Amino acid sequence: MKYRYGEMTWPEIAEASQAGRVAIVPIATIEDHGPHLPVDTDLRLCEAVCEAAAAVAPDRMVLVPAINHGFSPHHMDFPGPITIGAKTLIDYGVDVCTSLAHHGFRRILIVNGHGSNTPFVDIIARLAVVQTGVLAAAVNYWNAPGVREAAERLRESDAIGGMNHACEFETSIYLALRPDLVDMAKARRELSHRPTENYWTDLVGGDGPLAMMEPWSVLSESGVMGDPTKATAEKGRALLAAAASGIVALVDELRSREMRSRVDRH
Ligand SMILES: [Zn+2]
Repeated sequence: MKYRYGEMTWPEIAEASQAGRVAIVPIATIEDHGPHLPVDTDLRLCEAVCEAAAAVAPDRMVLVPAINHGFSPHHMDFPGPITIGAKTLIDYGVDVCTSLAHHGFRRILIVNGHGSNTPFVDIIARLAVVQTGVLAAAVNYWNAPGVREAAERLRESDAIGGMNHACEFETSIYLALRPDLVDMAKARRELSHRPTENYWTDLVGGDGPLAMMEPWSVLSESGVMGDPTKATAEKGRALLAAAASGIVALVDELRSREMRSRVDRH
């Protein structure tokens, strides 16, 4: 059964939307990930998670081609990032959802692979709901159910900050996917973002209440935030599997939610 949107013909897309399949929209960015990982890390990982999820539940979802670019202006002191503006990103995401809604998809799950896209994917999903009447939701794939538990079980890096960016978490998944593109000889631990009482950040452990994002060059010399030296392909395979089954669980939950009509209560 086909599940990749781009490989479908128009009658197949019509059939898929009428069958109530959930449209999965991966979104990430292109940005520096230390001296050991390619700049497509967020994109490749996010697409791999979505692909693995769709492959086990092709009858319930359709995998839309990813939105490759995201919000990375704070990374521009490093060579490589391609950032798009906040308003452009929101408009882009809403336009994708609006197109899907136009073709009859009633449920959309945006799967995000880049931390700094988080507020935007939330807004995109909200706007899609009010503007098109679909049921749209957004999730960061590392927040999918079961991922945190798997990551904490495997974790050898520091509890706060060890899994952040180009870290044990991301490097492990990249190693599981394309070890030939990872240069572990150049992987280095860097925890220089200076956590304080209410400011800290960790992909798995979450962020402190003092939420802010300084320029990446202020936070890291190598571009790494965390400890990629603890990464292994085996951990990556476990994280990938956890994230994929977490996405399937979210899709099934979204599918089972009854859609009710708006009521004008003026
Ligand atoms: Zn990343």
